[in-house]
Amino acid sequence: MAWKRRSVRSRSGPLRHPVFVACNDDGFLFFQASLLMGLEHISQYDLDNSDLHLCFIYFAVRTTHSMSQQFKNNSKYVWLLLASLVMAGSGIFTVNWPVQSSASNTTTESTAPTKSALPNTNTIDHVILISVDGLRPEALLPPIVDQYPAMQQLTQGAWTAQARCDPDSSITLPNHVDMLTGRLLVGEHGHGWVSNSDPPSRKMGGSLHLKADRYISSVFDVAHDAGMQTAMIAGKWKFVLFGQSYGEDAGGPDGVAPNDGQNKIDCFIHSSDLMTQVEQLVAFINVASQNQKRSFTFLHLALPDFTGHGAGWDLNEGSSYRKSLQRIDQELASLLSKIQQSQSLAGRVAIVLTSDHGGGVPFTSHTDPEAPINFTIPFMVWSGVNQKPVDLYLINKVSRHCPGANERFTPNQLPPIRNADAANVCLTLLGLPPVPGSTVNARQELLVALPQPK
Ligand SMILES: [Zn+2]
Repeated sequence: MAWKRRSVRSRSGPLRHPVFVACNDDGFLFFQASLLMGLEHISQYDLDNSDLHLCFIYFAVRTTHSMSQQFKNNSKYVWLLLASLVMAGSGIFTVNWPVQSSASNTTTESTAPTKSALPNTNTIDHVILISVDGLRPEALLPPIVDQYPAMQQLTQGAWTAQARCDPDSSITLPNHVDMLTGRLLVGEHGHGWVSNSDPPSRKMGGSLHLKADRYISSVFDVAHDAGMQTAMIAGKWKFVLFGQSYGEDAGGPDGVAPNDGQNKIDCFIHSSDLMTQVEQLVAFINVASQNQKRSFTFLHLALPDFTGHGAGWDLNEGSSYRKSLQRIDQELASLLSKIQQSQSLAGRVAIVLTSDHGGGVPFTSHTDPEAPINFTIPFMVWSGVNQKPVDLYLINKVSRHCPGANERFTPNQLPPIRNADAANVCLTLLGLPPVPGSTVNARQELLVALPQPK
């Protein structure tokens, strides 16, 4: 199956809720729901029955309900609703999540340097890396954060409002490659992915490995090779770059027995609807948990960036940007509440939240990598258990230096905390070794919690 989205674009016009779902290994599902495209653009591949049947019935209802809020007077809505219900109810949309027969707990294979780096080391089974696209860190500081209870909750762990994006780029796609590979854009070991456009097909060069002329390993490789379930839920289509680089047969060989295959991303979902994204995320983790599997999920929330490009990165009360953060906070609150109310998930999920860039120079963009408002981002780690708010720089004096507010580098000193730290922080939390070839936090030296008392 090729990674195609057909003709639906999430950011154009009234298509507010196009959805792309591709689940690999034993089953493929390619599902696009778009009122304007109609049912002829719903396709399916190699479907098989699975435990997720009910999830997708709910998913179909959710999607059509969501559409109905926007297209109340469009008769096609009724059509789509009925058709979706019938198809979901009849089992057309089903999918197999890959399930390995031997549930291996890889914590014992960890090469993480020190348990003190981890909050509750051996209880974290699921790590969610959240990128809030275009999140200005000032929103996480009082008094603004007082209006965002979920984000306020996430600041109750180790975090900083003075992290940095890639030193040479403050645009979206290169920074997400940083986050997921633990490499910077340029340099001998840089990943080299400069473009911020929708990538061409894999055969036409839309692959990180082709671009770099060598295999660029990622957090997906390490987690998947260790037998964990992996997912990417992205709010922009351009993230198909990761599907094309790590999905299907694009990933590298699995050097950790048993062989979990070359498809390093078990589930790839593209949706710009926040509620759908969070519901899919929780469903994915719940299924992993039910199957006694651990997991890594990357969640990309695009709304603040879309809003910033339309109305500026304006932090004034009542601005469009502030309203977009309110929406993000609502969904984060929903996510936190679902985790904390679940017996199998509470205390077993860690969240790493950061951003690809800030924004505001120019006013409706973020293209200038030298502008502090663009390169300053938050970085936080939350597990919700036995945590105290702590400054990440304070507990990492040995390995990181907090740059001045106008500095994007810390020349001749220790590096700042960057979004590129995220890949290996996530693996540290899962008790796994670093991404092969990574250069940022490659020794997993970044502490994400106060040392545990002995
Ligand atoms: Zn972005």
